[in-house]
Amino acid sequence: MATTAAAMVWFRKGLRLHDNPALEAARRGAARVYPVFVLDPRYLRPDPDAPSPGSARAGVARVRFLLESLEDLDSSLRRRGSRLLLLRARDDVSDAVCAALKDWNISKLCFESDTEPYALARDKRVTDFAEASRIEVFSPVSHTLFDPAEIIEKNGGRPPLTYQSFVNIAGEPPEPVMEEYSVIPPIGDTREYELFPVPKLEELGYGDISQEDVPPFRGGETEALKRMRESLQDKEWVDKFEKRKGDPSAFLKPATTVLSPYLKFGCLSSRYFYHCIQDVYRSSKMHTKPPVSLTGQLLWRDFFYTVSFGTPNFDHMKGNKICKQIPWKESEELFVAWRDGRTGYPWIDAIMIQLRKWGWMHHLARHSVACFLTRGDLFIHWEKGRDVFERLLVDSDWAINNGNWLWLSCSSFFYHFSNLRQPPCTTLP
Ligand code: FAD
Repeated sequence: MATTAAAMVWFRKGLRLHDNPALEAARRGAARVYPVFVLDPRYLRPDPDAPSPGSARAGVARVRFLLESLEDLDSSLRRRGSRLLLLRARDDVSDAVCAALKDWNISKLCFESDTEPYALARDKRVTDFAEASRIEVFSPVSHTLFDPAEIIEKNGGRPPLTYQSFVNIAGEPPEPVMEEYSVIPPIGDTREYELFPVPKLEELGYGDISQEDVPPFRGGETEALKRMRESLQDKEWVDKFEKRKGDPSAFLKPATTVLSPYLKFGCLSSRYFYHCIQDVYRSSKMHTKPPVSLTGQLLWRDFFYTVSFGTPNFDHMKGNKICKQIPWKESEELFVAWRDGRTGYPWIDAIMIQLRKWGWMHHLARHSVACFLTRGDLFIHWEKGRDVFERLLVDSDWAINNGNWLWLSCSSFFYHFSNLRQPPCTTLP
């Protein structure tokens, strides 16, 4: 095996050691491995003018979850003789990565592929720099079950627009890469770089955050694996899992897994999760099937990743070929009442308060408030609701969030029950 003097594994999502092909490739044959995460001011810089605590793009619950996930990753790396190297970007994350590649004389760069537009542009800047500097780049697909580009290619260059056609093309996902690492090669000389531990919320400038608002789930791979195993222990529950059934207001024991925040940050590999569910199915006589089963939920996730990757302007109504063009109404007053949980409809308001405090709600609760804002009652643009979810959800995910807002507003994928010519409601009680 050829030996690489120094490899960098650049963590962004994929905050885990299990099923991490980028880490595996960096580790294999390298004398030194630099595990890097860059704190991105785009998401982390506190915004005192935001409607609730957090940055302009992320509510405080998500920022906290990220920091917890980084702490957990750092501990796991330290137990194996390494550590997480945190860089602070002044502005553009790609500048910080390129500078470290150069300063540390890195010869191989490994990072998980990411299909979000922001990530694609960022990664292109880094890849261009690496190629110009003759640094080998390895960027595997491991955030999703399948490679969205491959599915699109198999479908003749267009993304499949129905779940069933997606499932027919996709087949079975690849096996996860489950290497057990007892040791990771040590980090090399970091020169004049200041190495600091994972910061606390307060150190990032988020002062005075009430403990009452802490969501009942902690970030990190350790917690993700524990939570997944606990969910899958109840084999009868897994076998009978049927989305749409289950109580959206069950808080002490939620009706679904609450693994979405862990999948969002890649603390849990979707492939590993999928294969663990299959293990449960193997020992059962009967189990539910996609689209309603638990594996069916992971296929929904991949479905939206694939469509979003292959659809220009997926996150907009204008210029988006698969989105109905609807004359949504403008009403800042109604929108703010919805956003702040002041509509006067207790169910809707309770869900929006849960969103602000926890950053997670059951799927049917998300249905209710999304439908209420758009085609159901207020007739307000789905992009405005999408933005609120995007900022406040801990599991906020560009592909899934936009996909579900398109769906719930009857703008794409699903058009039943909609009469979108007449605005249904103009005032609140
Ligand atoms: P489970 O039912 O246990 O499902 C397991 C996993 O499957 C989830 O963690 C998730 O990764 C995936 N999944 C489940 N339902 C869906 C779905 N409808 N579409 C795609 N993937 C799914 N989910 C997000 O992860 N991020 C978002 O930003 C997001 N925004 C949404 C916005 C709206 C308007 C709606 C209606 C739904 C949204 N969802 C989003 C989908 C879904 O509500 C959540 O994934 C789910 O409630 C998370 O809880 P869970 O982990 O317990 O799900």
